[in-house]
Amino acid sequence: MARELVYGPVPSRRYGLSLGVDLLPRKICSYDCVYCQVGPTQELCVERRDFVPPEAVEQAVAHALERGPRPEVLTLAGSGEPSLVLSLGRLIERLKRLSGVPVLLLTNGSLLWREDVAADASRADILAPSLDAPDEATFAAINRPHPGVDFGRMLAGLRQACARHPGTVRLEVMLAAGWNDDEERLEAFGRVLRGIRAEVVDINTPVRPAPGRSIQACSPERLECARARFGPGALLVGGFRGGAATPVALADAERVVLELLARRPCTQADLRVCLGLGDEVLADILRRAREAGRVRAEARPSGLYFFAG
Ligand code: SF4
Repeated sequence: MARELVYGPVPSRRYGLSLGVDLLPRKICSYDCVYCQVGPTQELCVERRDFVPPEAVEQAVAHALERGPRPEVLTLAGSGEPSLVLSLGRLIERLKRLSGVPVLLLTNGSLLWREDVAADASRADILAPSLDAPDEATFAAINRPHPGVDFGRMLAGLRQACARHPGTVRLEVMLAAGWNDDEERLEAFGRVLRGIRAEVVDINTPVRPAPGRSIQACSPERLECARARFGPGALLVGGFRGGAATPVALADAERVVLELLARRPCTQADLRVCLGLGDEVLADILRRAREAGRVRAEARPSGLYFFAG
């Protein structure tokens, strides 16, 4: 199934009801993180280009805004790393004007050392870079970067871009059990984070399964240890804070469910909260999609998750 350029609105655990804007046609990234929900990176790259025409992105966003429901934020993320997009800065400006809602840029931060990327990122209302490792060896293990990404240069660029950003900075640290949550690394993280300006440090853990990979969420005890070491701005990422969306029209329900599952595995409860659809409707859509081989289900400790494909 061809991917739409926008998806949702979907429940963001930090930002409320978010209209996702996907600037990449498939999984293209400068990293291949072990916990990635999108699946293995299909094109590992660091060269910037426009992967889809910027005009097509604007049109897709305009159409989604017309269709509703109204999102609280536009989130540039999707199938890979949005800072790889050459027209990113111009696109952010146009989407802000078009939507009238804040634009959030989720980025892995790998290219923020570049002046052009930092300038583009500075146009977002909220900059949300991630940092999953306090040292080079952990970085190589968990993020599996393109050979062109140097840990020291990445970290210096991240520090500088956060310090200069005119809007809000929310840094995300993804902690995975056994990968980067031991005492020594948490202390090293604390030292690194003290050098980065961020209003909030979101501590996340992979509660949703990563397709094809076995990654475990950290225990509540390890997450509490992290919070204690990461400073006063550190928060544990909780459940979806928004209320139920204005329901997606029944005629669109199947398409929206499949588009959402193409980007992230969800439980039926996630879909209900996100899309405002009833359990009966969702159960019917999921049953038919499973019978047609378009969706599969996997039981995980945090619930029964549905995946596209
Ligand atoms: S940086 Fe994001 S999109 Fe890229 S591999 Fe990691 S989690 Fe996936």
